[in-house]
Amino acid sequence: MTRNLITPVQNTWCPGCGNFAIQHTLKEILSGLENEGHSLDNVVLVSGIGCHAKIADYLNINSVYAIHGRTIPVATGIKLANPRLTVICCAGDGDAYAEGLDHLIFAAKRNIDITMIIHNNRVYGLTTGQYTPTSPLGFRGKSTPAGTTEYPFNPLELMLASGATYIARGYTRKMPQLAELIRQGIMHKGFAFIDVLQICASFFNMTEYYGQRVYDLTDHNAGDFAVACAKAREWDYNRDTPIPLGVFYEQSLPTFNDRNPLRDLSADERIHRIHDFFEASK
Ligand code: SF4
Repeated sequence: MTRNLITPVQNTWCPGCGNFAIQHTLKEILSGLENEGHSLDNVVLVSGIGCHAKIADYLNINSVYAIHGRTIPVATGIKLANPRLTVICCAGDGDAYAEGLDHLIFAAKRNIDITMIIHNNRVYGLTTGQYTPTSPLGFRGKSTPAGTTEYPFNPLELMLASGATYIARGYTRKMPQLAELIRQGIMHKGFAFIDVLQICASFFNMTEYYGQRVYDLTDHNAGDFAVACAKAREWDYNRDTPIPLGVFYEQSLPTFNDRNPLRDLSADERIHRIHDFFEASK
């Protein structure tokens, strides 16, 4: 029986928030996977802390709330304990690029087989508008009333340098494309990273700005690292240049589990070992 993927929990996102588009895109993808015969019992969603994180309350699948910036350690543990599971992380730009940055880099370096969806509204929305690592220079918010004095970093370049094997950027107002990017990321074997530009309707509404600049990558060779680097640099999250959307880079390489000396252990054997470890630690 097809389950209702939207929970009855009251949704408290602000009207117009980009999180709605990500929630409904994920719902459509998961419904599609279920219709194709994939059991959603084998899917786990891990969210962090922030407005985005409530998606774990609103989607009716197995989910875990991690602490701030720690979606990846939790997701990595789940994947290592049971490699058969499809593990999806949702994290905000503050959650993933500030508090959790080291984990993000190491997940890419390890090529752990999880999918990372960044709700990148370029502001801390839940705490009412502080700047994040991808806020543009001069951003005026609660913690920077005179404007930030820092340049943002470019997460796509960072992921390329760190070894991610699937790197894409989508936009919440282009939902069919976003669905394809996330779906491909879920099907990708290895660390899949999707930076999703979304607006924060209350503290950083970039609708007009993005509407004038986003365009789709075409005739792009996503298998060429140098080409991917050049494309990723086309927009640095600060300059007023065109903003490409699509798959920047895709590579098939062994995952962390493929190289794991214990890779042949079944999920049951792994769970017994974890149980024994905790018993011995008492
Ligand atoms: Fe969305 Fe911003 Fe409202 Fe949070 S504060 S729910 S990110 S619009």
